[in-house]
Amino acid sequence: MDEQDGDRNRELMLDGNAAGGMLYDVFSAEMTGAPTECASCGRRGEIGSLLAFTQAPGLVLRCPSCENAMVRIVRAGDVTYLDARGAVYLRIAR
Ligand SMILES: [Zn+2]
Repeated sequence: MDEQDGDRNRELMLDGNAAGGMLYDVFSAEMTGAPTECASCGRRGEIGSLLAFTQAPGLVLRCPSCENAMVRIVRAGDVTYLDARGAVYLRIAR
């Protein structure tokens, strides 16, 4: 990645709290304070501490330590695709 790509990525990046509304719609729960663990580097933290990219067709949440894509959510019509293979777990409050 050259310096220009890095700048562009930072412009597109929001923190995980900015994605809270979409996460609430998908999980029907407040998720920004929910704990999760990166499947790549093992970092543990709240979902709200992840790097959120919302300019893609969906939402991508990346680990702030290793930038692994932990969660991807894409909506298409009346369905939602969830790819969370980059996370060891997501804890969802009942
Ligand atoms: Zn990581």
